[in-house]
Amino acid sequence: MNIHEYQAKEILKQHGVAVPDGIAVFTVDEAVAAAEKLKANGASLFVVKAQIHAGGRGKGRTKKNNAKGVILAKTVEEVKAAAESLLNDVLVTIQTGEEGKLVQRLYVTDGVDIDKEFYLGITLDRATSKNVIMVSTEGGVEIEKVAEETPEKIVKEWVVPGHPIHPSQARRLAFALGLEGNAFKQAVKLIISLYKAFDATDASIFEINPLVQTPSGDVIALDAKINFDENALYRHPELAALRDESEENEFELEAGKYNLNYIKLDGNVGCMVNGAGLAMATMDIIKLAGGQPANFLDVGGGANVETVKNGFKIILKDPAVKAILINIFGGIVRCDRVANGIVQAVADPEIAEKVKNVPIIVRLQGTNAEEAKVIIDNSGLNVVSAVLLKEAAEEVTNAIAS
Ligand code: ADP
Ligand code: MG
Repeated sequence: MNIHEYQAKEILKQHGVAVPDGIAVFTVDEAVAAAEKLKANGASLFVVKAQIHAGGRGKGRTKKNNAKGVILAKTVEEVKAAAESLLNDVLVTIQTGEEGKLVQRLYVTDGVDIDKEFYLGITLDRATSKNVIMVSTEGGVEIEKVAEETPEKIVKEWVVPGHPIHPSQARRLAFALGLEGNAFKQAVKLIISLYKAFDATDASIFEINPLVQTPSGDVIALDAKINFDENALYRHPELAALRDESEENEFELEAGKYNLNYIKLDGNVGCMVNGAGLAMATMDIIKLAGGQPANFLDVGGGANVETVKNGFKIILKDPAVKAILINIFGGIVRCDRVANGIVQAVADPEIAEKVKNVPIIVRLQGTNAEEAKVIIDNSGLNVVSAVLLKEAAEEVTNAIAS
């Protein structure tokens, strides 16, 4: 689960990581009030930052007003103008794709004088089963590019999950950034605190890009991206509450409510499959037959009427879907039960209305597959049964073409 920069900074602050002061706002008036408040606390420079679940805001532009996603403002009036140009406009960055993201929240923060920009990231290194802390002197730019072109400029330390980072590791990282004196000490403290926060929140990504050194030698996190491991969120209700559903795909959100594993894709063949591996293979076969999957959907091993119904509801919400391929392997579950489930689901008035013009191709294999085929064939519904997966995929692409 992703959260906004301002929420991430709040978490960092609670763990003793230095961040600039800032206030999150939803309206222009609130932005002005926030700037006044920061000014009263001594700020002489402000930065207005669009809060969307995507990076690259500094180089991004909004569609209507052509505004940058990160705007420097010298006065409260300039903060007001920046807020007006960003709020309710759509920001396009290299991470949002062409459609961009609607800006509904802003972060008004203290402007910081920057001497040097660094990169600092923490994530799980699956190859070593350890957390890896990475730093680079190449901050403020895309770290992927650094990793590809000059990997020697990324310095790493590994820590066994559940253990603290050793101070000598934090010192090695701070040293790799070329820091000295007070800045070195601050960076060591910041890295230790940041690692503690990462561990304590069951995060999967912490990314500070840039981490900056100011002319006076302070080391501050200027940007913060946090991603939490969803499977651990039940341990952190206060973090789960930070979810901003407006940033997430509405179909995926609904699927989450039904406990279905759904991912929206760009094609027009709706897929309903039991098992993630089979779902991947099904998408491959659809592509091989010349079709494009509209989604990944794993209804789980024990597909029943309820899961099949919910699966249909999610798939049919997507207006791009022109045909549906159901591919179920009867291992844990018997095919005849699933076939009855499909027939019942398609008879549901809400679903029946929507599938009138959406051919459904069903491929059931495994226990009681023959009985299942008879049930489907005799149902009198707009449902075609297939025996082989290849056949099913061809049927579904033909159905769309005709
Ligand atoms: P993004 O990564 O989405 O582009 P950042 O928060 O990294 O957004 O901001 C982009 C750039 O804007 C930073 O690299 C930094 O140069 C500048 N910037 C961001 N926040 C501040 C701030 N509080 N004070 C001064 N400059 C800032
Ligand atoms: Mg950044």
